[in-house]
Amino acid sequence: MQQPTILQSVRIIDPRHDVDRVADVLIADGIVRSVAEPGTAEQWNEHPDNGGEQTRLISPPKDGNYLLTPGLVDCHTHVFGSAGVSRADMLGVEAGVPIIVDAGGPGAATIDDFVSIRVEPSRTRVHALMSIESGGVTESHPGHNTTSATHKMVTSSIDTFLGAIDRHADVVVGLKVWSSAASGLRWIDHGVSLSEMTSLPMMVHIGDVTGADPDLSDSFTGDVLDRLQGGDVVTHSFTGLPGGLINAAGKIRSEVTVARDRGVLFDIAPGLVNLNFGRAVAAMEQGWIPDTISSDAHRWFVEQYRCPSLLRVMSSFLALGLALSKTIECASTNAAEAFGIQTGAPREGEVATLSLLSLQEAPTMFSDGETSIRGSESLAPVGCFIEGEWIEAREQARSPELLASEHRVPFFSAIAEELAHHRSHDERWRGIELHQLIHRARRDCNLTIGEAINSFYAEISPDETAIPAGWILEQLGPDETMKRFSPFQTT
Ligand SMILES: [Zn+2]
Repeated sequence: MQQPTILQSVRIIDPRHDVDRVADVLIADGIVRSVAEPGTAEQWNEHPDNGGEQTRLISPPKDGNYLLTPGLVDCHTHVFGSAGVSRADMLGVEAGVPIIVDAGGPGAATIDDFVSIRVEPSRTRVHALMSIESGGVTESHPGHNTTSATHKMVTSSIDTFLGAIDRHADVVVGLKVWSSAASGLRWIDHGVSLSEMTSLPMMVHIGDVTGADPDLSDSFTGDVLDRLQGGDVVTHSFTGLPGGLINAAGKIRSEVTVARDRGVLFDIAPGLVNLNFGRAVAAMEQGWIPDTISSDAHRWFVEQYRCPSLLRVMSSFLALGLALSKTIECASTNAAEAFGIQTGAPREGEVATLSLLSLQEAPTMFSDGETSIRGSESLAPVGCFIEGEWIEAREQARSPELLASEHRVPFFSAIAEELAHHRSHDERWRGIELHQLIHRARRDCNLTIGEAINSFYAEISPDETAIPAGWILEQLGPDETMKRFSPFQTT
């Protein structure tokens, strides 16, 4: 039986029900059992039905405050594939976020790997927007222009695609399409037809990183907006890159309004380069508020900012002037609704999938890469509940990414040593099980499988199409893998 929890004197923010009040809250059996005036909790604690001495008590520190909100949903993260961080919980429960969505990491050829190395071992509820590319979306390092005009998309057969979604219907909540003026509208059209076939919403990336002619990018984005259906989601809405929704003069393009009237949704996903403060302020001053706020946290985001990623982005929106309650709604209920995910609400009888945050009054600087703004308060995670189960947030002193990079050299020399050993015994490469080498090397270097796989293929394909490791191991074949691997041999 689940241990009941009593929260004393927490500030409940429930935007959908227009609630902002201090209360005592009892959570038991996966639901919010009671919400009552502060001070009521003492009676609950003595009541034998509520768990007696087994009850967990949580109350804010003397000089602090706790906010109890609907469970946060980060609907654009990267925990798999070339851009992915190695542990989903780092962006999820350890940062106060019970539910995250990987935006395009897995494709039909890699979704099984994604489920076994990211969904199943995580305490966070992990969902995916499955890429229409069979190996998953390839995203570039900010310094490497890998998603270039030469970007070649490899798609699966329709049957394979539908089969993958069928096998993981509880995980896949939408599709992800990456496209640019240079690669053209065919991928968008392909996404639209797959979206119709599967009745799943499609998330489309805008903001052109390929360096194409800005006019071309702008007209491309217009064409994309015209093709989207109600329920589809445009991500990177406040980007300052070519092909954005708001022009340099701060004017929102007309296709945006038409698309929004049709039910198209707009997501934030700043990552490192896709939030321009000037354009965000201009849009919000015109009353144009995003539908969802997500982080687009990826491995480089985490290296730069550490965690908690979603709360950092939410805090930057507070600094931009968005109301606290709206900010929370965009990053919880709105995001859940957009992708048909169930989160909870701090309200009697509702599912207890909730976030517990603290609002700290401290000047904090936020940067969009060009300009900086100063916020007077910021959100920090305390923990979260998933259907009543309490998970405390964790201090992110050292991210696994940094840990993995420290181990990168010994990890690769361990693999190289193994290879040299096999070669000296005149064995053919075909006889070597690459995954076993990785397994042994990671054990010697004390890496998790996720850290090892991520650092392996971060090294193996640093500047061309970055292909998820599962795909390399299972699909590429030994010869091609060996070719990519050769720069890391010691001989
Ligand atoms: Zn992304």
